[in-house]
Amino acid sequence: MALSNLFTRRPAISALPAEAPEPKVWPEIGETWNPEGVSVVQRYYNQAHAVVLVYTACARYRCVVACLGCHFTKAHSAARSYDWMELSEAAEAANEHATTCRALPRDLPTRPGDATVHKLLHKRAREYQDGAKDNEFRIDALDLARLTIQRTNVWIEAALRKLADEQPDLLLLRTSHEGGAPRFFVRHYTPVS
Ligand SMILES: [Zn+2]
Repeated sequence: MALSNLFTRRPAISALPAEAPEPKVWPEIGETWNPEGVSVVQRYYNQAHAVVLVYTACARYRCVVACLGCHFTKAHSAARSYDWMELSEAAEAANEHATTCRALPRDLPTRPGDATVHKLLHKRAREYQDGAKDNEFRIDALDLARLTIQRTNVWIEAALRKLADEQPDLLLLRTSHEGGAPRFFVRHYTPVS
Protein backbone atom coordinates (compact mmCIF):
# COMPACT_ATOMS: atom_id res chain seq x y z
CA MET A 1 0.00 0.00 0.00
CA ALA A 2 2.76 2.40 0.99
CA LEU A 3 4.68 1.49 -2.17
CA SER A 4 1.63 2.11 -4.32
CA ASN A 5 1.16 5.58 -2.77
CA LEU A 6 4.76 6.39 -3.49
CA PHE A 7 4.23 5.77 -7.20
CA THR A 8 0.92 7.57 -7.46
CA ARG A 9 2.36 10.64 -5.72
CA ARG A 10 5.29 10.86 -8.06
CA PRO A 11 5.45 14.34 -9.64
CA ALA A 12 3.96 14.42 -13.11
CA ILE A 13 7.21 15.49 -14.73
CA SER A 14 8.89 12.18 -13.93
CA ALA A 15 6.29 10.44 -16.10
CA LEU A 16 7.67 12.13 -19.22
CA PRO A 17 9.57 9.78 -21.52
CA ALA A 18 13.33 10.08 -21.34
CA GLU A 19 13.66 10.45 -25.11
CA ALA A 20 11.84 12.80 -27.44
CA PRO A 21 8.87 11.14 -29.13
CA GLU A 22 9.17 10.04 -32.73
CA PRO A 23 8.32 12.94 -35.05
CA LYS A 24 4.85 12.59 -36.51
CA VAL A 25 4.49 12.08 -40.21
CA TRP A 26 1.62 13.69 -42.09
CA PRO A 27 1.57 12.13 -45.55
CA GLU A 28 -1.34 14.41 -46.50
CA ILE A 29 0.92 17.49 -46.52
CA GLY A 30 3.41 15.86 -48.88
CA GLU A 31 6.01 14.47 -46.50
CA THR A 32 5.92 11.12 -48.29
CA TRP A 33 4.26 12.21 -51.53
CA ASN A 34 5.76 10.80 -54.73
CA PRO A 35 3.44 11.67 -57.59
CA GLU A 36 3.73 9.55 -60.72
CA GLY A 37 6.38 10.74 -63.17
CA VAL A 38 8.27 12.75 -60.55
CA SER A 39 11.33 11.89 -58.43
CA VAL A 40 11.47 13.85 -55.19
CA VAL A 41 15.11 14.63 -54.40
CA GLN A 42 14.77 16.81 -51.26
CA ARG A 43 12.05 18.12 -48.94
CA TYR A 44 12.11 21.16 -46.68
CA TYR A 45 9.58 22.48 -44.17
CA ASN A 46 8.39 26.03 -44.50
CA GLN A 47 7.58 28.11 -41.41
CA ALA A 48 4.07 26.60 -41.14
CA HIS A 49 5.15 22.99 -41.68
CA ALA A 50 4.19 22.87 -45.36
CA VAL A 51 6.63 20.92 -47.50
CA VAL A 52 8.84 22.51 -50.14
CA LEU A 53 9.89 19.93 -52.73
CA VAL A 54 12.95 19.66 -54.94
CA TYR A 55 12.12 17.21 -57.71
CA THR A 56 13.17 16.03 -61.14
CA ALA A 57 10.78 14.94 -63.85
CA CYS A 58 11.85 14.86 -67.49
CA ALA A 59 15.57 14.43 -66.84
CA ARG A 60 17.51 13.68 -63.67
CA TYR A 61 19.74 16.73 -64.00
CA ARG A 62 16.88 19.25 -64.26
CA CYS A 63 15.71 20.19 -60.75
CA VAL A 64 12.46 21.98 -59.95
CA VAL A 65 11.34 23.60 -56.67
CA ALA A 66 7.68 23.63 -55.66
CA CYS A 67 6.09 24.75 -52.39
CA LEU A 68 3.11 22.71 -51.20
CA GLY A 69 1.98 25.64 -49.06
CA CYS A 70 1.89 28.63 -51.39
CA HIS A 71 2.18 28.22 -55.17
CA PHE A 72 5.86 29.18 -55.42
CA THR A 73 7.71 27.26 -58.14
CA LYS A 74 11.13 27.65 -59.71
CA ALA A 75 12.55 25.70 -62.62
CA HIS A 76 14.96 28.07 -64.31
CA SER A 77 18.45 29.10 -63.36
CA ALA A 78 19.15 32.77 -62.88
CA ALA A 79 22.89 32.28 -62.81
CA ARG A 80 23.73 30.04 -65.74
CA SER A 81 23.60 30.18 -69.48
CA TYR A 82 21.30 27.15 -69.63
CA ASP A 83 17.81 27.61 -68.26
CA TRP A 84 17.55 24.69 -65.83
CA MET A 85 18.78 24.32 -62.24
CA GLU A 86 21.27 21.83 -60.88
CA LEU A 87 20.56 20.28 -57.50
CA SER A 88 22.76 22.72 -55.57
CA GLU A 89 20.97 25.77 -56.95
CA ALA A 90 17.53 24.19 -56.50
CA ALA A 91 18.33 23.17 -52.92
CA GLU A 92 19.44 26.71 -52.13
CA ALA A 93 16.25 28.16 -53.65
CA ALA A 94 14.05 25.67 -51.77
CA ASN A 95 15.80 26.36 -48.47
CA GLU A 96 15.60 30.11 -48.96
CA HIS A 97 11.89 29.89 -49.75
CA ALA A 98 11.23 27.60 -46.79
CA THR A 99 12.79 30.06 -44.36
CA THR A 100 10.43 32.86 -45.42
CA CYS A 101 7.17 31.16 -46.50
CA ARG A 102 4.42 30.98 -43.89
CA ALA A 103 1.69 29.39 -46.02
CA LEU A 104 -0.15 26.50 -44.43
CA PRO A 105 -0.08 23.12 -46.22
CA ARG A 106 -2.61 23.07 -49.04
CA ASP A 107 -4.37 19.99 -50.38
CA LEU A 108 -2.18 17.88 -52.64
CA PRO A 109 -3.33 17.88 -56.26
CA THR A 110 -5.30 14.73 -57.03
CA ARG A 111 -4.26 12.67 -60.06
CA PRO A 112 -6.31 13.92 -63.01
CA GLY A 113 -8.10 11.62 -65.45
CA ASP A 114 -6.53 10.84 -68.82
CA ALA A 115 -8.95 13.08 -70.74
CA THR A 116 -7.99 16.06 -68.55
CA VAL A 117 -4.28 15.54 -69.23
CA HIS A 118 -4.86 15.12 -72.97
CA LYS A 119 -6.75 18.42 -72.93
CA LEU A 120 -3.95 20.11 -71.00
CA LEU A 121 -1.32 18.89 -73.49
CA HIS A 122 -3.46 20.10 -76.38
CA LYS A 123 -3.77 23.52 -74.73
CA ARG A 124 -0.02 23.73 -74.12
CA ALA A 125 0.70 22.82 -77.75
CA ARG A 126 -1.63 25.61 -78.92
CA GLU A 127 0.31 28.06 -76.74
CA TYR A 128 3.47 27.26 -78.71
CA GLN A 129 1.82 27.98 -82.04
CA ASP A 130 2.79 31.07 -83.99
CA GLY A 131 2.47 32.28 -87.55
CA ALA A 132 6.15 32.27 -88.42
CA LYS A 133 7.68 28.86 -87.83
CA ASP A 134 7.31 25.39 -86.34
CA ASN A 135 8.31 25.45 -82.66
CA GLU A 136 9.68 22.44 -80.84
CA PHE A 137 7.45 21.16 -78.05
CA ARG A 138 9.78 19.58 -75.52
CA ILE A 139 8.57 17.33 -72.71
CA ASP A 140 10.92 19.11 -70.31
CA ALA A 141 8.91 22.30 -70.92
CA LEU A 142 6.24 20.58 -68.81
CA ASP A 143 8.52 20.23 -65.76
CA LEU A 144 6.62 22.83 -63.73
CA ALA A 145 3.30 21.15 -64.51
CA ARG A 146 4.36 17.64 -63.58
CA LEU A 147 2.89 17.79 -60.05
CA THR A 148 -0.45 18.46 -61.74
CA ILE A 149 -0.11 16.09 -64.70
CA GLN A 150 1.16 13.15 -62.62
CA ARG A 151 2.11 10.98 -65.60
CA THR A 152 5.39 9.33 -66.63
CA ASN A 153 7.55 10.57 -69.52
CA VAL A 154 6.53 7.45 -71.44
CA TRP A 155 2.83 8.23 -70.96
CA ILE A 156 3.32 11.86 -72.04
CA GLU A 157 5.30 10.86 -75.11
CA ALA A 158 2.56 8.40 -76.10
CA ALA A 159 -0.07 11.12 -75.57
CA LEU A 160 1.89 13.51 -77.81
CA ARG A 161 2.23 10.80 -80.47
CA LYS A 162 -1.54 10.36 -80.34
CA LEU A 163 -2.07 14.11 -80.64
CA ALA A 164 0.32 14.29 -83.61
CA ASP A 165 -1.53 11.40 -85.22
CA GLU A 166 -4.97 12.92 -84.67
CA GLN A 167 -4.09 16.55 -85.39
CA PRO A 168 -1.19 16.65 -87.85
CA ASP A 169 -2.00 20.29 -88.57
CA LEU A 170 -1.12 21.09 -84.94
CA LEU A 171 1.68 18.72 -83.96
CA LEU A 172 4.38 17.09 -86.03
CA LEU A 173 6.39 14.08 -84.89
CA ARG A 174 9.95 13.75 -86.15
CA THR A 175 11.94 10.61 -85.50
CA SER A 176 15.58 10.32 -86.35
CA HIS A 177 16.98 7.45 -88.36
CA GLU A 178 19.58 6.80 -85.66
CA GLY A 179 16.92 5.71 -83.17
CA GLY A 180 17.10 8.88 -81.06
CA ALA A 181 14.23 10.19 -79.01
CA PRO A 182 11.25 11.45 -81.00
CA ARG A 183 10.84 15.23 -81.25
CA PHE A 184 7.58 17.08 -81.48
CA PHE A 185 7.02 20.36 -83.30
CA VAL A 186 3.99 22.63 -83.08
CA ARG A 187 3.06 23.60 -86.62
CA HIS A 188 2.89 27.27 -87.49
CA TYR A 189 -0.46 28.72 -88.49
CA THR A 190 -1.46 28.01 -92.04
CA PRO A 191 -2.07 31.29 -93.87
CA VAL A 192 -5.70 31.78 -94.80
CA SER A 193 -6.00 32.05 -98.58
ZN1 LIG B 1 5.64 28.76 -50.07
